Amino acid sequence: MIVARDRHVGELPKQYDHQVVEAEVKSRWERDQTYELVKKDRLTGKKFYFLDGPPFPSSDTPHIGTSWNKVLKDAVIRYKRSRGFNVRDQPGYDCHGLPIELAIEQKFGVKSKKDVESFGLERFILECRRFAEMNAGTMTLAFQDLGVWMDWGRPYMTHDDYYIECDWWGLKQAWSKGLFQHSQRVVHWCPRDETVLSDYEVVLEYKTLRDPSIYVKFQVEDKPTEYILIWTTTPWTIPSNVAVMVNPDFQYARLKSNGETFIFAKERIESVQRETGRSFELVETFPGSKLEGLRYRGPLESLVPAQRDLRNAHRVVLSTEYVTLDEGTGCVHSAPGHGEQDYEVGMRNQLPVVMLVDDQGKFLPEAGKYAGKPVRDANPEVIDDLKSAGALLYAGEIEHRSPVCWRCKTPLIIRATEQWLIRIAQLKNQFINEVDATLWIPDWAGASQFKNWLRGLKDWVISRQRFWGTPLPVWTCATCGRQKIVGSRQELFENAVTKVDVPTLHRPWVDAVKLRCDCGAEMTRVPDVIDVWFESGGASLACLGHPTHLEETKFWWPADFITEGRDQITAWFFGLLRNGIVTMNQCPYKTVLMHGFALDAEGREMHKSLGNFVSASDVTAKFGRDAFRYYVLQSTTWEDLQFSWDAVRQHQGDLSTIWNTFVFAGTYMSLDKFTPRKQPLKKLTRNLRPEDRWLLSRTHRTIKEVTRLMDEYKIHEAVRKLKSFLVEDLSHTYIRYVRRRTWIERQTRDKQVAYATLYTALKSALIMLTPITPFLTEFIYQHMFRDAEPKHPPTVHLLNWPKSEPKWIVDSLEEEMKAAQTLLSTVAVVRMAKGMKQRQPVPQVYVASESKVVKNALKSYSGLLHEQANTRRITQISKSAAPKLEDEKRFAKTDFPDGTIFLDLKLSRSEVAEGLARDAVRRMQQMRKEMDLKVDSFVHGYIVAPSPSLATLLKSRRNYIAGEVRAKQLKIAAGEMKVEAPYYTKRWQINGETFEFGLCETSKLRLNKSARAGPR
Ligand SMILES: [Zn+2]
Ligand SMILES: [Zn+2]
Repeated sequence: MIVARDRHVGELPKQYDHQVVEAEVKSRWERDQTYELVKKDRLTGKKFYFLDGPPFPSSDTPHIGTSWNKVLKDAVIRYKRSRGFNVRDQPGYDCHGLPIELAIEQKFGVKSKKDVESFGLERFILECRRFAEMNAGTMTLAFQDLGVWMDWGRPYMTHDDYYIECDWWGLKQAWSKGLFQHSQRVVHWCPRDETVLSDYEVVLEYKTLRDPSIYVKFQVEDKPTEYILIWTTTPWTIPSNVAVMVNPDFQYARLKSNGETFIFAKERIESVQRETGRSFELVETFPGSKLEGLRYRGPLESLVPAQRDLRNAHRVVLSTEYVTLDEGTGCVHSAPGHGEQDYEVGMRNQLPVVMLVDDQGKFLPEAGKYAGKPVRDANPEVIDDLKSAGALLYAGEIEHRSPVCWRCKTPLIIRATEQWLIRIAQLKNQFINEVDATLWIPDWAGASQFKNWLRGLKDWVISRQRFWGTPLPVWTCATCGRQKIVGSRQELFENAVTKVDVPTLHRPWVDAVKLRCDCGAEMTRVPDVIDVWFESGGASLACLGHPTHLEETKFWWPADFITEGRDQITAWFFGLLRNGIVTMNQCPYKTVLMHGFALDAEGREMHKSLGNFVSASDVTAKFGRDAFRYYVLQSTTWEDLQFSWDAVRQHQGDLSTIWNTFVFAGTYMSLDKFTPRKQPLKKLTRNLRPEDRWLLSRTHRTIKEVTRLMDEYKIHEAVRKLKSFLVEDLSHTYIRYVRRRTWIERQTRDKQVAYATLYTALKSALIMLTPITPFLTEFIYQHMFRDAEPKHPPTVHLLNWPKSEPKWIVDSLEEEMKAAQTLLSTVAVVRMAKGMKQRQPVPQVYVASESKVVKNALKSYSGLLHEQANTRRITQISKSAAPKLEDEKRFAKTDFPDGTIFLDLKLSRSEVAEGLARDAVRRMQQMRKEMDLKVDSFVHGYIVAPSPSLATLLKSRRNYIAGEVRAKQLKIAAGEMKVEAPYYTKRWQINGETFEFGLCETSKLRLNKSARAGPR
C-alpha cells in the first residue's frame, strides 16, 4: 500500500479548527479502513497482549472516568503499534450481574425474587441480555468516537457461551485441586435481593442507621441475682445467642447495684454508669480468664424454641482478638449464626450455630413468636420481651455507620449459610509472592496497597442466589449426595439423562438438564449463579477461547498490560490474580498501571443526581477529541483528575500553539517547495548552525526520554515532555530564531539547513504525539508530510517510532543555549528599562562574567546572540573591567545570575537608519497582513517621510526594506504626496513623527495600468 509520491512539504490551514480536523480524519479512517490496515501491518511483530478491564454496561453514557480509562489504553496500544508490536486489543463488557437485573426489575415493576419467577425467568434473562447488549453497543459508539482503536467488532461479552464454558473449566480446575467446596459460611446478605454479597461489595456503601443500644442481663446459673452484662445494637440476634465472649487478659469486676450483682470489664464501669444512669459499687476484680466456662441462662428460652435444647451453649468463652474495651461492657454477646467473628470463636469452642433468619431476612419458625417477622422490625418486640423477662438493664438508641447493599441500599444482615466457595486463604503466601513478580505503576499501588489487601485474604464465596449470571456448574444427587462439577458444554451433554437442546447455557434452560448419577438416580443443578468477579477475573483466558483454543492461550497468555482505576485493587486486579492462581497457578498479567478517579473541580464524585456530571462527549463537542485526550493524558495517571473546563481550554490552547508551529513550517517549506529527499539533513550537517545542532540535540533527547517514559507507562510525563519540546523548544525558541532565515527570498543553503532541521524535529514530534492526539497528527501528516517523501505510508499510524541517536545529544550545547537565552532576556530587560526598542540596533553589548558556560555560549551562539540582541558587537569582559563602563549616560546595565550586562546606547547614524528601517518594515508588514496578501506575493510601495533628513535615512536602507516587504519597487520621499487608488495607504507614528505608507499588490497594478504607481 505504499504509493510513491515525490512532491514537497504541504501547507496547513492557518487556524486550528478541531471540527474540520476531526471530521476529515474520521471519514478518512472509515473510508480507508485505517485501523484494519495498521493492525494487519503489525501482525508479524512481537506479541503484546493488552487485556481490557470490562466495564458494566448498566447505563448507556460512559462516565468521564471510563472515557479517560479507554483513552489511556488507546494511547498505550497506539504507542506499541508504532513500535511495531502485534497488539491484541479486544475490548470487553462485564454483562452479567445484579445491577442489570435491578434495571430490568425496575423497568417491568418486578418487586422481589419471587416476582421474577412469576414474570417468567426465560423472559427475564432475555431482557437482561438485550439490555446489556444495547448498552454495550452505545458505549462502544462513545469510545469509538474518542478515537479509541480497539477490536470493536469483536468484543468479549461475559454472557457468551464460550466465555461461560471457560468459567466452568476454571471451577473444574479448582475442584480437581480440592479448592472448590460446599460449606457453611457467615456472609453479608441483602434481604431485598436475597443473595450473598462479596467482601468487596460490602465495603462499597455505608449509611448512618439509627439502631437500639441495649444492656442485657444474662443470669448466672444458680445465682438468681447475679448477671453477666452484655451490650448490643442488634436485639434481633439475642434469640440466636449461644455464648458470651470475654478477653482473658482484661480485668473484670463484680459490682453491686440496687441489690443485684453484675459482671463486666472494669475499664467500662464509668461509661456504663454514664449511659445507663445506674451506679455500681465495686466488689472485686479478677482477670477475664477466670470467667471461662461460667454458665448462664438464655433470657428468651421460654419464647424461642431454638434456645431451649441447646447443648454445650450459654457459657463464657475466651477471645483475645475480638473483645475490646472500645465500646460495650467487655462481655460480648455471641451468635455464631450472625457474626463472622462469633462464628470463628464458636467453631473453636464447639458452640452450636443458631441461625433463625430466612433469605428474605424474616425469622424462621424455630424463632417461635417472632416467626415471619423481618428481623429489624422485630427489635422493639425483642426489647419488650427482655424487659418482661427482667433481663433488660437499659434501652437507648445509637447512630452508627452500617453497611447497606450498594445496589438497593437495604441494610445488610449477617447470616450463616451454605455456600460454594474456593479455598484460597491457605494460598496467601503465593498470592503475595505473585505481586512481587508483577510490575506495578506506581510501585506503591502493588507493594503497599495490593499487598495489604492480600494480607486479609479470605476464602472466596462464589455462589450467588440470583438469575442473570454464569450458572454454577454443580449438579447434585438427592439420593446419594454425590456432586458433579461440569467443565464444558460437551461434558454436560455427554452426561445428560436425555438429549436436550439449550439455546444458551443460561438459566432457566440449563436448569432443565438432568445428569445421570453413578447411583442411577438423576442429578439436579444447584440453582446458584457465579459471582461476577469470578467471571471478569477469568477474562485473561476466557476472551482467548480457553480451553477450546489452546493455541491462542499458548501464543498470547499471560497479558502483558492492564490498566484500571484505583478501586480495582480490591476488585479486578484482585479477581484476575485469584482466578489466575486457582486455574493456572500464576498471575495472569505482567504489568499493571493504576489510574485515579475523575472528579469534579471541587473533588466530588460526578453524578447525574448531583448536577455535576460531565461526559466526554460534552467536552469533545466544545473543544474536540484531541483536546479531551491531551487533557486527560497529561494529568498524573495515578492521581485523581479534578475536571475543570478552564484547564481543558488551556490545554486546547497548547494544541493551537503546536498547530501554529506546524503552520509556520508548512507555509514556508511549501512556498520554497522543500523536499526532504533532495535536501536531507545528513547531506547538510556541515552547514548546521549551532542553534540547529541545539534543536537536533533537543529532538534526540526528547525522543530518548519520551520513549523511556512510554515504555515505563508514565504517559503523563511523556506528554509533558512532548509539550515542553513542542511549545518551549520549537515554538518559543527555535521558530523565533529561525524566522529571518526562512524569510530570505533566495534558496540559500542556510535556509535549506533550517528547513531540514525543522523538518526532522517536527516529524519526530508528530509521530510521538500520535498516540496522544491521533486526529490532529493524522491531519497534519496528510496535509503537510505525506507527499514530502516518496516512501511515506498512507497513515501517520504506520510511521515507525523515531530512533534517538546518541551522537546528536550534546549536553554542552543545551547548557549553553540556556545561558544564551538568559543573556538575551537580560538584554531585553535593559532595553525595556531604557525605552530602547528591540528593533533598534545598538552598537555594543558587554557581558561581564566569569562563568565558563557564559563564555562558551558567547562563542557557540555568537551569530544567534548578535542577531537576537540586535547589536553589532558583543564583548565579553572580566568583572574587574566592568567599572570602566559605569557611565550612566552612555551605558545601561542589569545584573543576571552569572554577571552583569552593559548596553552601549550611543547610536551612530547608520544604527539610527537601521532602527528606522526596521520600524518601517514592521508597519508595512502589518499592512500586508491587513491587505490579506499571500506570503509570497509582490508589491509596489512608497514611504512619505516627514522630513528630508528622515527620507535620506530610509533611502540608505531601501534595499533592506524592499526585500523584507517583498516590494518590486519602493519610492521614498519627503513632504506631501498625492496618491491614487488602488494603493492601500496608512499613516503611522514612529518616534513621535508621522510617516505615510502605501502598498499595492503588483499583480493588481498590471491589470490597471491607468492607476499609475505611487506618489506624484
Ligand atoms: Zn440489595
Ligand atoms: Zn446418586
